[in-house]
Amino acid sequence: MDLNFSEDELQFQQEVKQFLAQNLPPHIVEATANNASVFVEKDLALEWQAILESKGWAVPQWPVEHGGTDWSPAQKYLFSKECYLAGAPMLIPLGLLMLAPVIMAFGSEQQKQQYLPRILSGEQYWCQGYSEPGAGSDLAGLKLKAEADGEDYIVNGSKMWTTHAHLADHIFCLVRTDNSGRPQQGISFLLIAMDTPGVKVEPIITMAGDHEVNQVFFTDVRVPMSNRIGEENKGWSYAKYLLEFERGGGFSAPRISHELDGLRHLISQGRQQDPEFDARGEIERRVARIEIDLKALEITELRILSSVSGGGNPGPESSILKLNTTRLEQEINELSVDVLGYRGFAMDPVADGSPYRPDFTSSVVPRYLNNRAASIFGGSQEVQRNIIAKMVLGL
Ligand SMILES: Cc1cc2nc3c(=O)[nH]c(=O)nc-3n(C[C@H](O)[C@H](O)[C@H](O)COP(=O)(O)OP(=O)(O)OC[C@H]3O[C@@H](n4cnc5c(N)ncnc54)[C@H](O)[C@@H]3O)c2cc1C
Repeated sequence: MDLNFSEDELQFQQEVKQFLAQNLPPHIVEATANNASVFVEKDLALEWQAILESKGWAVPQWPVEHGGTDWSPAQKYLFSKECYLAGAPMLIPLGLLMLAPVIMAFGSEQQKQQYLPRILSGEQYWCQGYSEPGAGSDLAGLKLKAEADGEDYIVNGSKMWTTHAHLADHIFCLVRTDNSGRPQQGISFLLIAMDTPGVKVEPIITMAGDHEVNQVFFTDVRVPMSNRIGEENKGWSYAKYLLEFERGGGFSAPRISHELDGLRHLISQGRQQDPEFDARGEIERRVARIEIDLKALEITELRILSSVSGGGNPGPESSILKLNTTRLEQEINELSVDVLGYRGFAMDPVADGSPYRPDFTSSVVPRYLNNRAASIFGGSQEVQRNIIAKMVLGL
């Protein structure tokens, strides 16, 4: 694999820089810098999605026929890198990068036409109904029951930890359509409108104080069978396919590199204030370790994603990306809190006389708290290690 960028690719990078300089609104950059949650606010993410979409750049990963691009992996990487360097937010991936690939691979023609343009335009905003009370790592143990009734299913049960269910108008759900065989065999993949009678959303407030996740209850919810993706009882394969995109469908290294810049800024502010700051070089050593691991992640991402440039799926190697992305982000969060020390608890860093940049400083502790969940959602670190051991290393 050639890791040097060609003249054309470097020219493309300039085009992206110019587009971002002219089209990325400052209020979105500011909100992104202050954001401590997994996603920026829905309205801001959709505003940025619409701007990108007007240029045809909202989802470079999609095939051209559905509104994506024919960019090379290097171009996709450079685009992603420039977006993060400019301070753009990550687009919310639930519909765009998780559900859409499943519809493209396993949905009917009618479903492709019905859903893909609306996901791309932002008209439909999706959430993910996989986990349940008692079914997280052991996802195949899910119980949300869908019983056939004529041309419909009647759905009963609940989904847990559903990110943005309170903001979404649709949910993609794994439902139990058969109990007779192995647990994996009786699962189907069903699309449900959130305004269907019998759907109720209850908030869960996290330790960071955010309302991001919810429990969703389904009581006698009537869903047309035509909302099922693919075959009945084959949903486990589609579910696993989606998880590969959730865990490794994009480039994380540029985002982490941007976060590392924030940490470096914090360190340089610390030095200005205190000549004895990091006198033993411990913080520098931790930063160097993160830099080395980030380089390795970057190359691994390029390697994996260049191998799927033909429109395939990332494969179980996506667990390597999820594992390392999470570890590096959490190390940056922890180091940022260590550097900030007691100042992290200041209610108003500016009034407190702190020299630290308020936008970054004020979100350090909330970001640390919020991002503890990264080693759990999308499959815990232990689960990723199990997948790597079994599916990648063949142990
Ligand atoms: C902030 C947040 C957002 C989320 N968003 C969504 C969402 O939008 N949609 C959705 O469907 N789900 C979502 N989840 C749920 C998430 O996918 C689950 O929490 C996760 O899969 C773990 O499941 P669990 O919580 O049931 O924990 P458990 O499965 O009970 O795990 C508990 C502990 O046991 C360990 N463990 C379990 N099994 C094994 C094993 N075989 N080997 C080694 N260790 C093991 C785990 O690593 C973990 O440390 C979200 C979770 C969080 C925290």
